[in-house]
Amino acid sequence: MDDSMDELMTVISNEPGLGLEDVCEALRHHGTSVTFAAGSRIFEEGDRGDCAYMIERGYVEVSSVARGAKEVLAVLGAGEVFGEMALLDGYERSATATALHETVVAPISRQQLEQTIEEASPLARLLVAAAVQRLRATQSRGEPAATGEGRSLQLRVDKHYENVRADAAGQVKLRLDLESAIANREFELAYQPIVGLTDGRTAGFEALLRWPRAGRPTVSPAEFIPLAEQTGLIVPLGLWVLERGLQALGSIARDAGSEAFVSVNVSPRQLDTEENVERLAAMIERATVDPGRLRLEITEQTLLADPRMATLGLARLKATGAHIAIDDFGTGYSSLNYLHRFPLDVLKLDRSFVQRIAEDSAGQRVAAAIIALSHDLDMDVVAEGIEEPAELSWLRAHGCRFGQGYLMAKPMSFEEAHGYLYRSFEW
Ligand code: C2E
Ligand code: CA
Ligand code: CA
Repeated sequence: MDDSMDELMTVISNEPGLGLEDVCEALRHHGTSVTFAAGSRIFEEGDRGDCAYMIERGYVEVSSVARGAKEVLAVLGAGEVFGEMALLDGYERSATATALHETVVAPISRQQLEQTIEEASPLARLLVAAAVQRLRATQSRGEPAATGEGRSLQLRVDKHYENVRADAAGQVKLRLDLESAIANREFELAYQPIVGLTDGRTAGFEALLRWPRAGRPTVSPAEFIPLAEQTGLIVPLGLWVLERGLQALGSIARDAGSEAFVSVNVSPRQLDTEENVERLAAMIERATVDPGRLRLEITEQTLLADPRMATLGLARLKATGAHIAIDDFGTGYSSLNYLHRFPLDVLKLDRSFVQRIAEDSAGQRVAAAIIALSHDLDMDVVAEGIEEPAELSWLRAHGCRFGQGYLMAKPMSFEEAHGYLYRSFEW
């Protein structure tokens, strides 16, 4: 325990009137367990709820007063959680929690809980909200309807529940649509030129998924890819992308006489088991194109999620002859360590770095350092999201060999993209 924590614990034990609720704010920064003597109150009915608790050791009695008499609702032991309801729906404490023996509890702050719920899928959020709403309804049966402040709280809670429900319904619908779109092959690939910044020639294309939905608003990949990842649908979808990408490469190779490559995005889920890796590898090996002209774009997330599996998976994919690119470089945890630990051929400098080039000299120094480091490690660099002429000229002047962005070309149909192989950018 550090000094400030010692100090805090002294304050709690010397101030019997000071409830744990009062010091939760301070505790939540420490996440440290707190000990309660037998018989002491952890919180009381009617208190404002700032923390939930997990019991590490001991027993907690949860009780409430009904018609003047104390009613024990539960006795909880190690591993159980209590005090979470007031956090979940914003009402005050509906029960009193008392330590029966000497009891050690770990506080869970509102912030921690809210973050966990925020990160959960809309459906999981709906299940939590529904469960809390039903539990509260059973508890308040027979009590008078809320008035004044209580009523506005009730309305806020109902509104919140409605929002959660609408989000979940939207996501369930989108998921069903996504399933049938995969089954019916409703997707398309758009191709964005990746340009050689020295000669102005199109060096290759990144294949990007598009979901045209007749008569309905388009859904951006930034929205449906995470859903496909959560549901595992990304595995069949990703195989379809690779298959189409390889076909595109085949037709470029047949008639353009260029050395252009095709870059395909591969999500972490596609590399999380040997079976999934093998599916990708087998598809590349079956294709009748030069695998050296295929790039697989993976993100830092793939390397960090399961480094052992990533090592095996990338080795297998490299063995097919395909090249590996690290995508969105700099947006994740950016451990420079993995740049030489994994067999990476290309680094894609994220658009956020490219934007910072124009902003300040610190941005320029970071971009210059990443470009230099990549070249030291024998990796090609592709700068992403170039929109401004100033960004382009800075990158060219600082030895960045490839670039991609709306300034040169947006993602487009294969036929249109194909035309870019026969002309050069002038600069
Ligand atoms: P990403 O892999 O980083 O792809 C580049 C994104 O940046 C694309 O967005 C592209 O249209 C956009 N972009 C290109 N140049 C510019 C520019 O100059 N300015 C701006 N503002 N944006 C630019 P898109 O197509 O909406 O794709 C978004 C993300 O969805 C992709 O980011 C990728 O993470 C994911 N994605 C797309 N297709 C696939 C796929 O087939 N498989 C997987 N796993 N993910 C995909
Ligand atoms: Ca990409
Ligand atoms: Ca990217």
